[in-house]
Amino acid sequence: MPLEKLEKTIYQEFANIVGTENIDDSAPVREVYAYNWCQEIFNYMHDKSGPLSPFSDVPKAVLLPSTTEEVQQIVKLCNKYKIMIKAQSTGLGPWNQPSSSNSIILDLRRMNHIVKIDAKNLYCVVEPYVSGAQLQVEIMKHGLNCHMPGAGPMASPLASATSMNGPGFTSPHTGHSSRNMLAVEWVLPDGEILRLGSLGQKNNPDWFHGDGPGPSLRGIMRGWAGAKSGLGVFTKVAVKLFPYPCSTDFKVSGCSPNYDFEIPDFIRVYIIDCKNFKKLEEAMLRIEEEEVSFMCSYLSAFAVMAIFSNSIETLMDKIALGNLKAPLVVIIAARTEREFDYKQKAMDLALDEL
Ligand SMILES: Cc1cc2nc3c(=O)[nH]c(=O)nc-3n(C[C@H](O)[C@H](O)[C@H](O)COP(=O)(O)OP(=O)(O)OC[C@H]3O[C@@H](n4cnc5c(N)ncnc54)[C@H](O)[C@@H]3O)c2cc1C
Repeated sequence: MPLEKLEKTIYQEFANIVGTENIDDSAPVREVYAYNWCQEIFNYMHDKSGPLSPFSDVPKAVLLPSTTEEVQQIVKLCNKYKIMIKAQSTGLGPWNQPSSSNSIILDLRRMNHIVKIDAKNLYCVVEPYVSGAQLQVEIMKHGLNCHMPGAGPMASPLASATSMNGPGFTSPHTGHSSRNMLAVEWVLPDGEILRLGSLGQKNNPDWFHGDGPGPSLRGIMRGWAGAKSGLGVFTKVAVKLFPYPCSTDFKVSGCSPNYDFEIPDFIRVYIIDCKNFKKLEEAMLRIEEEEVSFMCSYLSAFAVMAIFSNSIETLMDKIALGNLKAPLVVIIAARTEREFDYKQKAMDLALDEL
């Protein structure tokens, strides 16, 4: 069956906004954007008797805007013609897929700038396609760190802060994306622009706070898990930064996956086999009471093996770790010997009690 297209005049109106080179409604491009990792699961949940397809509904076109103003004009046009929008930052995962063929995809990859790093006030401002890795490279130059959702450094800090989930392995130290979000630039579903938090101040608007004058809208905006593109498009966000917990002077040699690095001073990893999940819970609660860990997380035995390997051969060397029943991985890190001593003593105390 031929794919339904945008009417020619509507296509032209969109093209006038982003430029003809930044819109595509050709079948190959639209069908590629209809594919995503694990879409089969969503399709199965929708229709348990249907074939297991990795494709979602096919969007009518894919647009690549580069500015907030372009996003705003697109949203207004979609309202005029009653077309649905799915925004994507990095676009990995079935939650990026349109749930109707009467939709367009906004691929925000051209909005890839780190707008500001305020090292003194510990925040930065990013656009949607800035990855966690891209941001971390820049802020480590200032001795700073950011929260990285557990999805990994290729995920978008903006998407995590505004639109989806938020826990990560360093959450004991860097929190949850919903609480790290400060001011936001938000193109609402009707195309109006809302500047949330201190960015909405009449005098001296700036990015440093998520709640501005008036009631807080952060809960409506993302709640716990985020609206996943159901509430307009976020074009810029400020997120909190944190002092890097130890030296940022990593001496790396080689290339991924065969690389090595000297571990900086004052960093220690504990792998504790808690034997069962009840004991794991008790251990996590007790260790977290001390508020000393940089990471405190359950990992599967296989994940522990994989962390300490960079090839199948070195993975096999770690096969004994596969016997761990309920591994708890704790990392402590410090900037000075005194701080490191304190954290180690706190860990010793907690471990003695367990
Ligand atoms: C293997 C794997 C492991 C994961 N583990 C974790 C985890 O441990 N913790 C965690 O928090 N998350 C996890 N996730 C989920 C998700 O990837 C993250 O929440 C991530 O932070 C979102 O960033 P992203 O770059 O993947 O965003 P995207 O995949 O691009 O977008 C995520 C959602 O937000 C919407 N969206 C994106 N950008 C915008 C925008 N500018 N405006 C409006 N809506 C937008 C998208 O439509 C989509 O629904 C995991 C995902 C995978 C694939």
